[in-house]
Amino acid sequence: MLASPNRKSRFLGHGDIDVSFEFFPPKTEAMDETLWRSIRRLEPLNPNFISVTYGAGGSTRERTHAIVARILKETCLTPAAHLTCVDATREEVNAVIKEYWDIGVRHIVALRGDPAGGVGQLYTPTPGGYINAADLTAGIKAVAPFEVSVACYPEKHPESPSVDADIDMLWAKIDAGAIRAITQFFFDNEVFFRYLDRVRARGITIPIVPGIIPIHNFRQVSGFALKSGTSVPDWLGHRFDGLDNDQETRHLVAAAVAAEQVMGLADQGITEFHFYTLNRADLVYAICHLLGLRPVATEAKARAAS
Ligand SMILES: Cc1cc2nc3c(=O)[nH]c(=O)nc-3n(C[C@H](O)[C@H](O)[C@H](O)COP(=O)(O)OP(=O)(O)OC[C@H]3O[C@@H](n4cnc5c(N)ncnc54)[C@H](O)[C@@H]3O)c2cc1C
Repeated sequence: MLASPNRKSRFLGHGDIDVSFEFFPPKTEAMDETLWRSIRRLEPLNPNFISVTYGAGGSTRERTHAIVARILKETCLTPAAHLTCVDATREEVNAVIKEYWDIGVRHIVALRGDPAGGVGQLYTPTPGGYINAADLTAGIKAVAPFEVSVACYPEKHPESPSVDADIDMLWAKIDAGAIRAITQFFFDNEVFFRYLDRVRARGITIPIVPGIIPIHNFRQVSGFALKSGTSVPDWLGHRFDGLDNDQETRHLVAAAVAAEQVMGLADQGITEFHFYTLNRADLVYAICHLLGLRPVATEAKARAAS
């Protein structure tokens, strides 16, 4: 199942592959320790950037900010702060953007965010707020010359009438200044390649970076997939079938599945990957190793404590 040594890979090693890692702000001290252990473990892989998500309606505003600030202060990594425009006025969002610029953040992942009532509810922009991710992207660029990444959807956004309408929105985000699009996660590489063809046929040339989610917990990830309109192929369910109470085997299967997906993409010439780490490093580290990444010496910045 893993890449055979005879397979003709298009990538040659570290110099050819760019990775980024996404984390979320944890709620407990124990989870916070896991987060920082994971960041430290992945740091030597020299990612292009690591991003920190922003909770619905700004619910993690302070925690996202604190993590991003600590990344800047204590690591060699380049942070990207996610930002949404749900439940906030332009002034409130602009204040967050300015704060990020002032502490040295130069990259924002601009998102509309999900409706306050949850995915599937009708999205209503906040009066006086940014109306969607394209509008937010323009607002960010008006505050300061940030690098802006945005989201895109190989299986279309659940609210979108069609893939083409969804690509119209991607165009709007690019016109507003986005220079990279990170995909919603997907499990069938053909879905990604079909989408990539359609995006390129529409004249979009910015990097479309596949978002990869290692399946630590099949039930949990299936739940995420259902909410986000991502299809879960039967063969994938079959691979995890009967493993609910067998964590060890599940973990090995998850590693094999993720490795197969990523190597399949790399074999078709994909060189950039964004990993939804779910704050865990082990599978992502192993997959990056398979991609040819090797730890580089990092000189951690002076820790706040020392
Ligand atoms: C890589 C990635 C990171 C994410 N990080 C976070 C995070 O940190 N915090 C969080 O809360 N959520 C996050 N999300 C989820 C995201 O907020 C939701 O998917 C949200 O529902 C849409 O956000 P968007 O930025 O894609 O919105 P937009 O691009 O504004 O819109 C999404 C879709 O809605 C439709 N649409 C929007 N406006 C219009 C319009 N004017 N006319 C017609 N159609 C329109 C289009 O189909 C469009 O593709 C992330 C998603 C991805 C893929």
